[in-house]
Amino acid sequence: MAEEKTEVDVLCEKLFMNKKHSANFVDEEELQKAMDFAEDYKKFLNDNKTEREVAKFVVAEAEKKGFVPFDKFKKYAPGDKVYYLNRKKAVILAVIGKKSVGEGVRIAAAHIDSPRLDLKPNPLYEANEVALFKTHYYGGIKKYQWTTIPMSLHGVVVLRDGTEVEVSLGEKDGEPQFVISDLLPHLSKEQDKRNLDDGIKGEELNVIVGSLPFKADKGSELVKLNILKLLNEKYGMVEEDFLTAELEMVPAAKVTDIGFDRSLIGGYGHDDRVCAYPELRAILDLDETPDYTAIAVLTDKEETGSDGNTGLNSSYMKYFIADLARADGLMVWDVLSKSKCLSADVNAAFDPTFPTPFEAKNASYLNRGIVVTKYTGARGKGGTSDASAEFVGEVTRIFNNANVNWQLGELGAVDAGGGGTVAKYIANLDVDVVDVGVPVLSMHAPFELIAKLDVYMANKAFTAFFKA
Ligand code: MN
Ligand code: MN
Repeated sequence: MAEEKTEVDVLCEKLFMNKKHSANFVDEEELQKAMDFAEDYKKFLNDNKTEREVAKFVVAEAEKKGFVPFDKFKKYAPGDKVYYLNRKKAVILAVIGKKSVGEGVRIAAAHIDSPRLDLKPNPLYEANEVALFKTHYYGGIKKYQWTTIPMSLHGVVVLRDGTEVEVSLGEKDGEPQFVISDLLPHLSKEQDKRNLDDGIKGEELNVIVGSLPFKADKGSELVKLNILKLLNEKYGMVEEDFLTAELEMVPAAKVTDIGFDRSLIGGYGHDDRVCAYPELRAILDLDETPDYTAIAVLTDKEETGSDGNTGLNSSYMKYFIADLARADGLMVWDVLSKSKCLSADVNAAFDPTFPTPFEAKNASYLNRGIVVTKYTGARGKGGTSDASAEFVGEVTRIFNNANVNWQLGELGAVDAGGGGTVAKYIANLDVDVVDVGVPVLSMHAPFELIAKLDVYMANKAFTAFFKA
């Protein structure tokens, strides 16, 4: 026989905030949908490791769904689907809504670049009969995490005659990979005295790329010569072509399920493809014409501060919206000032092994759904776009109405550090913006961790937002 509820029970139920574990609030059918979605996401992660690769994938998928290249001088009709590719590194997709853009648009913006090791402009050298690449890390990394793991090479080389050669080596079965060495513990007495943050220094992130000399009786740098010969045979390049290349080392490990229950996904670059993918799927899979024009922005350069012409601190998104405005005889601010945006980026999931930099009551947790982050920033909310109560209320009502599991989360305890997202660049255009995203463990490590339920909830959240 069930015990009767006491007055305390009733009041607790009514007044206390109920923190949810997503798994307890989804039925078997929906759980299966989440697991299926995770499989698609895993394939996407394995196949697309750089912003160029993601952008290319996005355009191909969009074209399959009837999206066409954006014509800035054309007047589009409700239901029309367009995309704009910015310098092969960032993409905007839009589905034209039933209402005029003068009533505002619905923007979701995620980034498709991830921390990695870029090759320096003059990277190749030989030392002690080993050939290596010099690198300059991209984004905030803990450098010691990037040694002694297999890496693959991605990017593009522009040859002297202007020919572009795409490079991807170390991903397919049987292809060679690359690695950064570290000292053996037997001989690291001096290194062990360093602080963790310079346990491996930036100029020690040198990638081993070969060791056999070109067969010759005499000559210097024969190992380097041999590598150049192989590169010339494979890509048609000479040493000078490194100067006009964008080559990147990324972790080569394949994405994999983590845990006996397979609830988690480990892999490289969840930040921020774990938001970009569900956002992309939400706009591609829209089953009917939305009331408001839906815009999905997949941007570059977030990890280095959003500057540059493919980052959201530039004007490319504003110009895109200005073109939509002009077609309706409006100015860009007529549209922007009435627009709403989900700035989609990961948040730090509470780490049970390292609880100190988190404040448990305001942290985000794996499996509790998409995180709504009212503000980011550091040292007294410096450098943040602090979303209004009204807008957070509006967005979370949309999520509730669509049965999206969501949680509120700060990025760490006060003064524990901090960080930012693209939210402020969009907010500064007079758009209502709030950060949402998937909680991540080991963010910016070569192997990050997310929960399958959370990436699925992110997809539901973006879909609901575009439809609202
Ligand atoms: Mn991010
Ligand atoms: Mn990041």
